[in-house]
Amino acid sequence: MRDERIALCAIGLDLGGSGLKGGIVDGAGKLLKVKQVPSPVHSHPEQIADALVTLLQALAEEANREGWQVVGAGVSSTLDVDPQTGCFLPPHFDHLQRWQGYPIAQYLESALSLPVLVENDGPMCAWGEYLVGAGKGYDSLVMVTLGSGVGGGVVLEGKRLPNTLGRAAYFGHLCIDLDGLICPCGRRGCWEMYVSATALERRAAEVVESEARPTHLGKQPTAQQVVAAAQDGDALATELLNELAGYLAVGLIDLANLFAPPLLVIGGGLSRAGELLLAPARQQMNALRLPICSEIALVASQLPFEAGLMGAALLALERFGGVYVRNPN
Ligand SMILES: [Zn+2]
Repeated sequence: MRDERIALCAIGLDLGGSGLKGGIVDGAGKLLKVKQVPSPVHSHPEQIADALVTLLQALAEEANREGWQVVGAGVSSTLDVDPQTGCFLPPHFDHLQRWQGYPIAQYLESALSLPVLVENDGPMCAWGEYLVGAGKGYDSLVMVTLGSGVGGGVVLEGKRLPNTLGRAAYFGHLCIDLDGLICPCGRRGCWEMYVSATALERRAAEVVESEARPTHLGKQPTAQQVVAAAQDGDALATELLNELAGYLAVGLIDLANLFAPPLLVIGGGLSRAGELLLAPARQQMNALRLPICSEIALVASQLPFEAGLMGAALLALERFGGVYVRNPN
């Protein structure tokens, strides 16, 4: 017979821009099953909600079939959510305005007859990383996710940064250059205009177009292709990552000064560049000789695929089942 604490599980979902991922996580924080489907994020609200319900139901049925009791579900969302009401917030960008006020948590709860929490993906990734990823052994961390945009989350002394307005840790819109590039949010010089995967792709296209230098990069390389080329020793791709690392360091120093965390974790798709990105960023941070920078560990996510869904599922386990306790090691 199973230990009663271990027989409980939660479902975690990660609603991202390119994929909708879901997983079953047990009371010991182990990911038992994963499913992924195309992201419905550009559909109408009802279609997105239905896609979430379909995946949640499939995972809940699978868990039940295998003898697990589902205590609830957590959703890590790329669309901003008010954690108090469980409704989507007005987004920065017009094409998603139809999401404003949609009661996603309530909809999922009534469709599934289970308690459901829905929160922003940056804080959820930070929580997953803190509990079962790169944050193990630390009591505080700041996470920065480098994807199509830039997000993040903060855990201080074991507590998540309160997100009362649903917009905490909006790191992508920190200003690093008053005269810089115009961001879709309306300001100039936002950090994500320089360090997101989108920014890397824009910059790579510019450089490939303007420089007649030998490179394995095609005309409009994806961020993944730039990272892969740098891993193969392509000089131009390596320069592009070094340039990005310089901008990364500028924002990380601000975060170091704000929170003085012992650990900075880089997640999102670009974290796959690993030391190709982190080593030059670390060098730039240390070059300033700010004592705080040399005291902080800068590492890549240990959960590049599942940080969001793990964070959401573990929060659901804690809130709805009271079963997950962080392993102190
Ligand atoms: Zn901005």
